[in-house]
Amino acid sequence: MMGQQAIPVIVLKEGAKRERGREAQSNNIAAVKAVADAVRSTLGPRGMDKMLVDSMGDVVITNDGVTILKEMDIEHPAAKMIVEAAKSQDQECGDGTTTAVVLGGELLKKAEELLGQDVHPTVIVNGYKMALEKVRELIPKISFKVDFNDKKTIKDIAITSMGSKIVSNESERLAELAVDAVMTVAEKRPDGKYKVDHENIKIEKKHGGTIADTQLIDGIILDKERVHPRMPKRVEDARIALLECALEIKKTEIEAKIQIRDPSQVQKFLDEEEKTLREMANKIKEVGANVVFCQKGIDDVVQYYLAKEGIFAARRLKKSDMEALAKATNARIVTRIQDITRDDLGKAKLVEEVKVGDSQMTFVRGADAKRAVSILVRGGTEHVVEEVERSLNDAIRVAASVIEDGTALPGGGAPEIELSMRLKEYAASVGGREQMAIEAFASALEVIPRALAENAGLDTINTLIELRSSHKSKGNSAFGVNVFTGKIDDMLKNRVIEPSRVKMHAITAATEVAGMILRIDDIIASKKSEPPAGGAQGGAGAPGGMGGMPGMGGEF
Ligand code: ADP
Ligand code: MG
Repeated sequence: MMGQQAIPVIVLKEGAKRERGREAQSNNIAAVKAVADAVRSTLGPRGMDKMLVDSMGDVVITNDGVTILKEMDIEHPAAKMIVEAAKSQDQECGDGTTTAVVLGGELLKKAEELLGQDVHPTVIVNGYKMALEKVRELIPKISFKVDFNDKKTIKDIAITSMGSKIVSNESERLAELAVDAVMTVAEKRPDGKYKVDHENIKIEKKHGGTIADTQLIDGIILDKERVHPRMPKRVEDARIALLECALEIKKTEIEAKIQIRDPSQVQKFLDEEEKTLREMANKIKEVGANVVFCQKGIDDVVQYYLAKEGIFAARRLKKSDMEALAKATNARIVTRIQDITRDDLGKAKLVEEVKVGDSQMTFVRGADAKRAVSILVRGGTEHVVEEVERSLNDAIRVAASVIEDGTALPGGGAPEIELSMRLKEYAASVGGREQMAIEAFASALEVIPRALAENAGLDTINTLIELRSSHKSKGNSAFGVNVFTGKIDDMLKNRVIEPSRVKMHAITAATEVAGMILRIDDIIASKKSEPPAGGAQGGAGAPGGMGGMPGMGGEF
């Protein structure tokens, strides 16, 4: 930006806030460290949960890093950057968000120590970049292959991802459901690799019952009941019509006055209406549908005629459900009832109304075209059901990652210790000023096993010493923290396993955000004409200023 000026030249609007150099840097670093500290105590199976209360008094109880951060209402621009990193981790991998944030905070903490020794930020950024490159090279070396048919390992990976969640007592069963779901929808591509479109796995929640009642359904679950009690509850070999239009007569917006002079005309008018409605039902019957899912309403008269014909109908479906049904049953969504043809219908083996708890739901099973599955989540309260959903999402995503990539590594801090040691050797071979930064990166990685040990109430110093020595002198590269026994143990024997992708992405995201923050040496917060309450940092004003900084983003 601007060079040092002897005579102050005022280029900023009056009232704009500006921080420069070390002051700006340490402010940003402090903000990120604060966020990292907030989630650090949740890391691992012995981590604590957080209770989040919003201004309306709504409560979320969770152990999920990204959920905590999303709910925390973070204002500081640098802190927002680490939250974005966590969100990206969540989107790409569905797991490892806490790891990314904790590591990002630690990388900055180590960088701050170097800054204190007058190491230039550019040197640190460069060293971190070199370390990340090395990590990219090393991760495949400490990973092992996982075959698509190795359900046991894939399930252990799903269990590991759920280990830190509130639902861990049920993790065995939920992992089984998640893995079955992923394996069902996985598609083998011509190159022999698998692709999992997790949108083909729907999660439907219904509170009531217990977590053990959670079940996998081969098909789609709709939170809908049939519209008329005389319609069949079960339709085998379903031929399904999907309607975007209402099966009703459009009421005019403005009250229209119809001048009717004698009673026979009233009757004629009503007959006309009934005829139109009856034709709607007839049209559906004609094309051979025995199930109708309608996105809008269905008139009583149409309901009556459909019931008479033994046709199952449900109304006011969500658009997303309509789309899922279209994909799964190979149906076309019809926008005008007059236009429907036989070809528009989808197929499923069975459509049935099922009682779940106190309400009725519709299961569309054995869909014709594409494998789509649903998990019906049950649990005592809404909070439980929601945490089960979050855990299942993590489990589905990690199972999908490992099926797609076919590689995994041990957890429990084992890879971080191994990478840390190998990076230290690498640093020595690099020498020069970057050596210090690579070493700092290497020690930052140790924050993961340290936090796992800390959260399990173990002696962190001894744990780290033992870990280093088991990796170094004994070559036990899979040794990590057994948070339940408090001992150093082989994580593969303990079946604590994670997808390589989660680790790779978490370390990358943490390094990227640390690099971005280290490159900022100037914070210009423009003062808004209407300042937000208590916005000392200028809130939304600052990111705009930072966006103009050279070298932001795309650095790694
Ligand atoms: P994240 O949001 O980063 O996934 P978690 O709270 O899920 O955070 O904790 C993940 C960490 O916990 C990983 O390092 C993982 O290897 C570790 N972990 C999970 N299960 C176990 C276990 N049974 N023993 C030791 N470490 C475990
Ligand atoms: Mg996790």
